[in-house]
Amino acid sequence: MIRINQIKLIHDENKFYDYDSINDVLKTKAAKILRISEGNIESFEIIRHSIDARKKPEIYHIYIVDVSLKNINESGVVKKCKNKDVSIIEPVRYVFPYDYQDIADKKDLRPVIIGAGPAGLFCGYVLAKHGFKPLILERGANVDKRTEIVEHFWKTGEIDETSNVQFGEGGAGTFSDGKLNTMVKDKDGRGRTALKIFVDNGAPKDILYDAKPHIGTDILRDVVKNMRNSIIEWGGEVRFESKVDGIELSMNGEVTGLKVGTEIIPCNEAVLAIGHSARDTFYMLKEKKVEMTPKPFAVGFRVEHPQALINFSQYGIASPKALGPAPYKLTTTTDSGRGVYSFCMCPGGFVVNASSEKGRLAVNGMSYSKRDSSNANSAIIITVDPKDFGSDDVLAGIEFQRKLEEKAYKAGNGKIPVEYYGNFKAAVSGKDDKQTVDDLLSQYEEDFNLKENTPSMRGDHVFANVHDILPDDLNNAFIQGMEKFGSMIKGYNSEYALVSGVESRTSSPVRIGRDENGQSVNVKGLFPCGEGAGYAGGIMSAAMDGMKIAEYVAERICKNEKK
Ligand code: FAD
Repeated sequence: MIRINQIKLIHDENKFYDYDSINDVLKTKAAKILRISEGNIESFEIIRHSIDARKKPEIYHIYIVDVSLKNINESGVVKKCKNKDVSIIEPVRYVFPYDYQDIADKKDLRPVIIGAGPAGLFCGYVLAKHGFKPLILERGANVDKRTEIVEHFWKTGEIDETSNVQFGEGGAGTFSDGKLNTMVKDKDGRGRTALKIFVDNGAPKDILYDAKPHIGTDILRDVVKNMRNSIIEWGGEVRFESKVDGIELSMNGEVTGLKVGTEIIPCNEAVLAIGHSARDTFYMLKEKKVEMTPKPFAVGFRVEHPQALINFSQYGIASPKALGPAPYKLTTTTDSGRGVYSFCMCPGGFVVNASSEKGRLAVNGMSYSKRDSSNANSAIIITVDPKDFGSDDVLAGIEFQRKLEEKAYKAGNGKIPVEYYGNFKAAVSGKDDKQTVDDLLSQYEEDFNLKENTPSMRGDHVFANVHDILPDDLNNAFIQGMEKFGSMIKGYNSEYALVSGVESRTSSPVRIGRDENGQSVNVKGLFPCGEGAGYAGGIMSAAMDGMKIAEYVAERICKNEKK
């Protein structure tokens, strides 16, 4: 296989390439670079596309492509074209190591997966595909019913603690921006395979190569449903509104069953893919003495700007058409050593009320596939560690989050509290130069010439004292971060930026210990998995961890290592 790096195309705002047309353009370019005829190309695949706007207003599209040839020697072609961006590569192919269809003596109980978020769904998908007929237990509703419940919550503020933005089919990522990038290295090919599974189940093909792949909540909901149907078709089962509230253990501490209400479901392999918001389940695990340790995470606020301001800063164009709305990524360290960074940035998105408990309020970000809301939003979060949690308890991080979420709920009286950054800053520094919302709004419109720049939110909001939510040192770290970011993106620290809170569910407050076989260090047959267990952060890494754990589960079943 030949890899060509750095195929460069200059951006033309009037040209929009879809998947097929860009393939054609690049195939012709590749043949030219390799000095062969297009007829010699047997297979062609775009591996990566990124945008280089460092020399704006000139913007470039940079591609990496893989080509295999027919009737011609690939090494010879590479040698001949003498180009440092052209080389022979060995493509990574993901292979699931076991197939239960091949096992003659099938005495095992089916594996059970707790949670139908990306980790649980991908774990279930690959296990089902290879004959293991898993059972998935999900506390929330199926995605259609869940969508109705969430819409009702956003309209009325009446929370359903069983199905909400955190719980239900598809997990926390269902009402999301559907960003599919990850920092996790893909040396085993799980990442690319996960993207292919997304495409096989209805996602657009460009996620296979985009450096910042994105689906949007509307498409993601169908993908999740299609994945569930495949699992069932392959002999698996998915039960909704089935919360696991206990684990049955043998005398020697191995999993023998799971408790759902009054029913005990026998099993020897249970995958714990519960996400970071299953607080009651973490308490159940603590009671069962499953080994867990507190871990650092981050808290902060969502910050909204007009998307046009971000586009202009990133691309030099306020309303790009073919490029789409611009993303950004910001990071800094404060004088006191705290990390402050942007997280889960949603171009053309909405801030959502992402709460899951009564009397507590948490926010997050979401977008539709078109990313066409007028605002860009991102969490700006500050690292916190167990020293900040106020107790040595293993679950102190959960109580720390709960306190902040109670304050956010009170600040907005149940609605998302929003504050202009200028007012936030004045209140924290003790200066009495607060302005009214109306004053600020009219100046804001004038400054950015944007009449529509009000919060883009799902769930009611109210202007309130967001600065009352976090402790002073975290508020000060947030301000330091915002001021620094103002030097990176002009206008970022404008006093008219909108700040809402609280962003408290950024990652799990605990890690569940896992051994070299993917199992809990002290409860055999229990496989901690995904974000809640502390092994992933985001949809893609959770999906990849789900696939990895599926391999361990298959191994335990096939090798029948149980005593
Ligand atoms: P989860 O997705 O949290 O899934 C866990 C599942 O387990 C839940 O469905 C839950 O109901 C279920 N469960 C919990 N306890 C039990 C129990 N006892 N019994 C039965 N079921 C149980 N990440 C990105 O990469 N890109 C984004 O654009 C993005 N946007 C986001 C937007 C929002 C609004 C939110 C909330 C999150 C977003 N994230 C995003 C984060 C991403 O959703 C998570 O990282 C990811 O979903 C974690 O996957 P998971 O499977 O480990 O856990």
